Amino acid sequence: MSPRSVVTVCGVHSLRDTASPIVVGMGARWKDVAIAAGLAGGDGVVRPTIFAEMSALAARTESANLGQGFPDGDGPEWIREAAINAIREGENQYPPGRGIAALREAIAAHQARHYGIALDPDTEVLVTAGATEALTAAILALVEPGDEVLTLEPFYDSHAAAIAMAGATHTTAPLVPHEGGFRLDLEAMRSAVTVETRLILVNTPHNPTGTVLSRDELQAIAEEATRVDAVVVTDEVYEHLTFDGAIHVPFATLPHMRERTITISSAGKTFSLTGWKIGWATGPAHLIEAVLAIKQFLTYTGGAPFQPAIARALTEGDTDITRLRDTLNARRERLVSGLEQAGFTTVRPAGTYFVCADATPFLSAGVPDGAAFARWLPEHVGVACVPLAAFCRDGSATAAQLRNWVRFTFVKDDATLATALERLARLPQLPQL
Ligand code: PMP
Ligand code: GLN
Repeated sequence: MSPRSVVTVCGVHSLRDTASPIVVGMGARWKDVAIAAGLAGGDGVVRPTIFAEMSALAARTESANLGQGFPDGDGPEWIREAAINAIREGENQYPPGRGIAALREAIAAHQARHYGIALDPDTEVLVTAGATEALTAAILALVEPGDEVLTLEPFYDSHAAAIAMAGATHTTAPLVPHEGGFRLDLEAMRSAVTVETRLILVNTPHNPTGTVLSRDELQAIAEEATRVDAVVVTDEVYEHLTFDGAIHVPFATLPHMRERTITISSAGKTFSLTGWKIGWATGPAHLIEAVLAIKQFLTYTGGAPFQPAIARALTEGDTDITRLRDTLNARRERLVSGLEQAGFTTVRPAGTYFVCADATPFLSAGVPDGAAFARWLPEHVGVACVPLAAFCRDGSATAAQLRNWVRFTFVKDDATLATALERLARLPQLPQL
């Protein structure tokens, strides 16, 4: 038998549109990544991510797309103008590998102003191609094959993919739904941290559950990180999207944690500019140096005209952030109450722009779980969402517990939300599925 296998890798928008066969070695790392992200089909075909799949399905069925989390509207005009001016003024060649000084200074000033974290912009700040690149570079930089990396579960898909790229073992600590929100199972977290745990990946505010981890939960993680001397990477891309007075506690602000923490964020959520892909990693110089060693061979650098625009946004954009938070808060209220009225049980999110809902009342033999429901809903009701199973490891206890759950986003304009809610209100009247 040939030692090589022929596989088909597909474009991200549909299983059919850009299929092209490629030949790869049997042990190639892409398979581990596809499996870790739950995208490996038994037929050797890699499926698109759940977000791409659901957006394609939404487009095909003309559904209100409450699946993939990207805003309908663009970010503030003055920030977009700043990027246009930067292009006109010649910011079109490679920026420095660490990012332009103005942006690194703005990131350091942002961390100092909001959280009291002091950073040296020359050595403790690194600009990346979105939070995604920062996460992947940090994990590739800091773990070796066989090391354990602990995440929360459910987890954002790129977390699992990056762990697989590094050849590391993914372990998880569950977030469990309660009436007041999803909370970290502290006992399970403690027993999941072992001497093999090299890195703990925290995400707060948390996608998909909307949980803002409490100081006590973070402190419990900090104690475990100290016990086994693990590095902590914290994904805080929703840092400004908190509601009901929930306070975002950056992990690096916990006692003694600054020295072992890489904090990651990006402009995408904060300024509704997800396509610009300007992110950053901050932390002690030796850890940032390690991340840079990888990052410089992933993209080297990027986003030349966007960097000065985001530097200004971080410096002058606090009012825009407040406005976005207020708008999202109103939309959250609308979506949560609309889902409840339609018959879902929801968990009210304290942060992010996602609401998780238990779809059990709408399941049947033909549509037996959240994954089937999410694929059924666009075709029959005209609304797209994302199943929580896509954020869980196949076969895990959390996957079983959240089997019937789906995630809806409220980062959509009022008209889209109104259409979605009107359509969802008809769910209880539909004949048994
Ligand atoms: N982390 C989380 C938890 C996210 O939800 C997202 C994107 N939605 C990212 C990272 C990726 O951010 P970016 O687009 O800046 O790469
Ligand atoms: N983070 C977005 C979400 O959770 C999706 C981003 C993506 O498609 N990779 O919906």
